[in-house]
Amino acid sequence: MLIDNHNRVINYLRLAVTDRCNLRCNYCMPAEGIDFAKRDNLFTMEELCELSSILVSQGIDKIRLTGGEPFVRKDLMTLFRHLSTLEGLKDISVTTNATIIGPYIDELKSLGIKDINVSLDAINKEVFERITRRKQYDIVYENLIRLITEGFNVRVNFIVLDGQNVEEILPVLELTKYYDVSVRFLEEMPFNGGSKNFNTIKWDYKTIYEYIAGHFPEIEKLKSHKTSTSINYKIKGHKGTFGLIPSFSRTFCGNCNRLRISATGDVITCLYGKPRMNIRDIMRGENSEEEVKSHIIAAVGSRSKTGFEEQQQYKGVFNNSMTSIGG
Ligand code: SAM
Ligand code: SF4
Repeated sequence: MLIDNHNRVINYLRLAVTDRCNLRCNYCMPAEGIDFAKRDNLFTMEELCELSSILVSQGIDKIRLTGGEPFVRKDLMTLFRHLSTLEGLKDISVTTNATIIGPYIDELKSLGIKDINVSLDAINKEVFERITRRKQYDIVYENLIRLITEGFNVRVNFIVLDGQNVEEILPVLELTKYYDVSVRFLEEMPFNGGSKNFNTIKWDYKTIYEYIAGHFPEIEKLKSHKTSTSINYKIKGHKGTFGLIPSFSRTFCGNCNRLRISATGDVITCLYGKPRMNIRDIMRGENSEEEVKSHIIAAVGSRSKTGFEEQQQYKGVFNNSMTSIGG
């Protein structure tokens, strides 16, 4: 079992399989993209499979594949197939922009992968395409509805962006009226590849809640797991639920159970911090599996208690992009 220096069990791995993406969401990266990693520096499929096996043997029982856009990796299904054979791995999920997932939906279903997070920051096509800087709305919406109606456990991630999509909050919430889906509103974080810097946000989780409550007086608060990052609610009469994720306010850090590994092997013990070490280099060296394990244990053993503590290293300026970190 992986236990950090604050006595928290670390059982959840967010594994980025690529830093590439076919969209250019303006809150995630600049229009021209970021300085993407050289292909050789990305994990190979064999390495991704090996690393996940090692981490599951260490007590990781939940893995979310992320990126970049995970499905831009043509060999992604190999990893899903491998993960589905790992004993002890209870929960396999993916976060996707849903542009190119279509051809893989049947196999995901047959592998028993049920939990899919879809990023969708507008119901209005024009707003969506302005934010993502690409014309992909129709296919995203089609895939989203297909995933929901085919019985996947879908969570829609919506970043509330001041001046860009606030008027989309209620339309996206409408999805919960008709479908058993969870729509989660996230605070914007300053990880956009350095194109924009900020120290405060207007649309924090309390403001988002007040805005929604102003339109729906009958909201019930739901019970959430202690490691959950979202505060969850149900609007009376709606089939689905909604959640608020204080990703900028960071009210959930105390119970953090996550480890992040980037597509180039950086081991990230906190979103708001710098990588602890590079595990790809260790795997590519002469080191044994035992050494990989001991480096992971050391990284987990040096975590900050909260993102605010971790952030001190940055002196307030972030220039990395979520496409490298994985969200
Ligand atoms: N490409 C996939 C997608 O968009 O779902 C997976 C990778 S993306 C980096 C993972 C998550 O990070 C998405 O839900 C995205 O909305 C979120 N994200 C990206 N940049 C963000 C930012 N600056 N603030 C908050 N969330 C962000
Ligand atoms: Fe791509 Fe996801 Fe970043 Fe959008 S949020 S640019 S879809 S990695």
